[in-house]
Amino acid sequence: MMVEYTSLKRNYDLYASEYEEAALRVLRSGWYILGPELEKFEEEFADRMGVKHCIGVNSGTDALILAVRALEIGEGDEVIVPAGTYIASVIGVTENKAIPVFVDSDEYMCINAEKIEEKITEKTKAIMAVHLYGQACDMDKIKKIADKYSLKVIEDCAQCHGASFENKILGSWGNVGCFSFYPTKPLGALGDGGALLTNDDKLADKLRMLRNYGSKIKYHNEIEGVNTRLDELQAAVLRVGLKHLDEGNKKRIEIATMYLNGIKNLKVKLPALRESGSHVFHLFPVLVDDQQKFQNYLLEKGIKTQIHYPIPPYMSACYRKYEYSWEDYEQASYIAKHEISLPIYSAMPMEEVRKVIECVNLY
Ligand SMILES: *Cc1c(COP(=O)(O)O)cnc(C)c1O
Repeated sequence: MMVEYTSLKRNYDLYASEYEEAALRVLRSGWYILGPELEKFEEEFADRMGVKHCIGVNSGTDALILAVRALEIGEGDEVIVPAGTYIASVIGVTENKAIPVFVDSDEYMCINAEKIEEKITEKTKAIMAVHLYGQACDMDKIKKIADKYSLKVIEDCAQCHGASFENKILGSWGNVGCFSFYPTKPLGALGDGGALLTNDDKLADKLRMLRNYGSKIKYHNEIEGVNTRLDELQAAVLRVGLKHLDEGNKKRIEIATMYLNGIKNLKVKLPALRESGSHVFHLFPVLVDDQQKFQNYLLEKGIKTQIHYPIPPYMSACYRKYEYSWEDYEQASYIAKHEISLPIYSAMPMEEVRKVIECVNLY
């Protein structure tokens, strides 16, 4: 029996009839873009997250790009970003011709809030907090620094739907929260999708225009916009997913708890949990000395794993012009070279979880 790293098919099968009913409803309605399903999803998601406005877009990357743009951050401006993150967080900055200023990771594998202040200059406009792997950044510290220097806060919530910090839900801490609904995420569509959350009326208004050619009224283009909308089919499917978000999170937390209690091997370092925050375990990252050896060992035992992420943004070829090296960010570089993500997804069978624990303990 092969233990797959993830299975979108199994996740789909959990609620297949509900997804199919929602999809058929849209197909037969004759309304496919900016219609009633999106309106309802935006209302339901904003409600669930306790935020005033939700603006659906085509992807998490587009949400990040629009967030930076709507906050009027552009050429020559600097944005603080974590050194350890997925490239899309940084694309949100560089697509607007702003400059990413990287800050190393902390022991929870998120941005090290203690190291932010030393990177702030006169050009700094915002801090991007990425709640990586499903765990909250230290939002208390980040908010205090942002307030002290009058900086905006953008949250990248692509991996943390439903998680919170100090009992306040992630995505509601900053000026704007950016979500991805890529199929593998804690709330996943059956295609691409994303959304922005904000309590700021003006910002919401602007984001709605930006996603729709820069217009509120057809053919009246007030600002330079783009076309990035969450379509009706995905919105309908996401309404189903949203109903089951808590169940899915609960299931992954259960699996993570089994890993945390069951894995007892000094060669495998388990993820550290931040006391004041929660973790929805989009991923389950462990650290080992020899990444390749551990991955090969598990594969021989029939267990597939992944690495998040082998090439951090500051070492990516597309950002070579910034001339960073592995030595610049000690923690983030360590994680890139020693991290392995164990299988974890809502529909993962418990016998497979037990097999992973058994094999990791025999390593
Ligand atoms: C998935 C992801 C994104 C990008 O979302 P897409 O919907 O794939 O564009 C951005 N940031 C992080 C941390 C992600 O994991």
